[in-house]
Amino acid sequence: MVDSQYVLPNDIGIATLDCAEAFQLLSPEEKLYAHYLSRACWYGGLVVLLQTSPEAPAIYALISRLFRAQDPARLGELAHSLGLSDEEYQAFLVYAAAIYANMGNYKSFGDTKFVPNLTKEKLKQLVWASQAFVDHPKEMEALWDRCAGLMFSLEPRQRHLGLSGQGVSTYFSANCSVEDAKLAQDFLDSQNISAYNTRLFKTEADGKMNYEVRLASVLSDDSQLDDDMTAKVKCFQFGSCVFTVTRGDYAPLLERVVENLRKAQEHAANPTQAEMLAHYITSFTQGSVTAHKEGSRCWIRDKGPIVESYIGFIESYRDPYGSRGEFEGFVAVVNKAMSAKFARLVAAAELLLEELPWPRAFEKDAFLKPDFTSLDVLTFAGSGIPAGINIPNYDDIRQTDGFKNVSLGNVLAVAYSTQKEKLTFLAEEDKDLYIQWKGPSFEVQVGLHELLGHGSGKLFVQDDSGAFNFDQEAVINPETGEHIRSWYRGGETWDSKFSSVASSYEECRAECVGLYLCLNKEVLGIFELEGEAAEDVIYINWLNMVRAGLLALEFYTPESGSWRQAHMQARFVILRVLLEAGGGLVSLRHTTGADGKPDAVVSLDRSKIAAVGKPALECFLRKLQVLKSTADVAGGRALYEAYSAVTDKEPERFLSLRHTVLLRKEARKLFVQANTHVEGDDVILVQYEGSAAGLVKSFRERFPDDAEVLEQHLLALARADARFWAP
Ligand code: ZN
Repeated sequence: MVDSQYVLPNDIGIATLDCAEAFQLLSPEEKLYAHYLSRACWYGGLVVLLQTSPEAPAIYALISRLFRAQDPARLGELAHSLGLSDEEYQAFLVYAAAIYANMGNYKSFGDTKFVPNLTKEKLKQLVWASQAFVDHPKEMEALWDRCAGLMFSLEPRQRHLGLSGQGVSTYFSANCSVEDAKLAQDFLDSQNISAYNTRLFKTEADGKMNYEVRLASVLSDDSQLDDDMTAKVKCFQFGSCVFTVTRGDYAPLLERVVENLRKAQEHAANPTQAEMLAHYITSFTQGSVTAHKEGSRCWIRDKGPIVESYIGFIESYRDPYGSRGEFEGFVAVVNKAMSAKFARLVAAAELLLEELPWPRAFEKDAFLKPDFTSLDVLTFAGSGIPAGINIPNYDDIRQTDGFKNVSLGNVLAVAYSTQKEKLTFLAEEDKDLYIQWKGPSFEVQVGLHELLGHGSGKLFVQDDSGAFNFDQEAVINPETGEHIRSWYRGGETWDSKFSSVASSYEECRAECVGLYLCLNKEVLGIFELEGEAAEDVIYINWLNMVRAGLLALEFYTPESGSWRQAHMQARFVILRVLLEAGGGLVSLRHTTGADGKPDAVVSLDRSKIAAVGKPALECFLRKLQVLKSTADVAGGRALYEAYSAVTDKEPERFLSLRHTVLLRKEARKLFVQANTHVEGDDVILVQYEGSAAGLVKSFRERFPDDAEVLEQHLLALARADARFWAP
């Protein structure tokens, strides 16, 4: 039996990333722009195979060939006829789906390796009997020989990503240690070269170290072009070592990225977008991060576009040294239907703000709509999909030009949805209703949270000239009945004053506003909810919050007594507040599951929401706002930290519940993404079912014209570097 940590369960959640509604509402030009950007992303996403493990490109090619010759159902019939059990074939399908979803054989979250959950012999039997093998026996056998050993190997060094001796990495040749990585960083810094789009290969000749710093670019060393990078592509003596900067890494893939960015340019919505793409084209052609930074500056200036995207060597989590970026590219589109509801909410904001439980003086003089767009992801190529993004990562640009905060609506919606069988910690009788209303209640909560949550409330400030933004004589603190005694001065801000507690506290305030205002009939009307449906949405929204408070325990670290996720901490705090309200509103019970292991059930008495829940929430929300408005750091911290504390005190025993939550945590879901293709003047969106077979099919149709050529390129690129990872 393989350690379950290194295999994916056969019933892993696999969901369609539904983008149909948002996509259909795009104009023809917007669709074309989104289509060509998506193509650029998908080609670039293949780079991740080369950035993950030496064997990943061959595994990808093997699986793709198998399914190109036979679709998942046909290959399944063959497996059955060979005597493989349904479980064994499903295990292979899940493995294949996960290779595509992670773009390699290491999990994008956690960086651990995963292997097929069937024996090597069984898989070999299937490969040998497959149509792909019948058609091309020599090639398939060679492919198998190249990757089968490492595909199944769980030698300690291969179990996770890491530098030489401790793990696998293709950002470095296998002989590089952390000292080599440090030395290379010093060299790169000395030459003002960014590490983001590089890899490092070390060779030793005549006792002398030679390091190759290879830049990702279409152009190779012998291109006699006089571009920004030409001066840097050469040999440098650095201390006693030689550093040779070369370029052309991933060239055939980046060529296709550039080609599609050019096509996208023709359909850009404005000059800023076109300029942005021009910089990206330069960046990928020349290997210039400077050009990528220029593109990022344009990207920040392109505020609130209908089609949003970002592409390049972005996140450095998977470089063991933390400075090389993994390729990612995404295209997301504004959900115009959802945006219309949010716009109606903004239009009603002035009235709704009066409903909030604090005096008018604690509200801003005029409502300022916070910068918020919820986007639905059309394409997210790379190793994994986050639910929200805050980029660019270039610190210098964040300081001077800023950044963008993007919430990915359809990713979030799926991340919190689940099949009934896997719905943890709810009473049996709540499950159907929860599944039915989770989506609509989530929409209401997100809208209220972002617009009226983060958008509400005033900070009392005395500026440098001594002037106040409130009437000291008139404003009374509703908590104390006295005048305002503390406020922000000069350059002080919410974040600088409340520092480490600021972000979670603010998320908690926004979540509370959502729970509180969802009780309002007018709000529900804006979301087209009436009568029983409206009542159900209120109930499920509140129930979901208390369940989330329990799930939050996953993000608490007892060793350091700290929380790792602002939103989840906020939900735990709300659960505590509602438990404290008493009156039978929330009940939290330790139970034993059908499997004999510890379990828990959280429930909410819907008849008590108005009488018990609302006043408790009202009181807490007012406290949060008053302490925030008055810059009362001591009071705010004391309140928030008290509710954030996780102890094993009776009756809840949260520390034990944390073990239960970890025990029953669902494996991270895989997403099935759509394909787009041009037909005449129109762009067609094709979606696939949310299953391992659906995910495999989406990749089967992803590169309809050049799948084989791409695989040849990937294999050739991996082969050229094989000597660097050879044992
Ligand atoms: Zn928020």
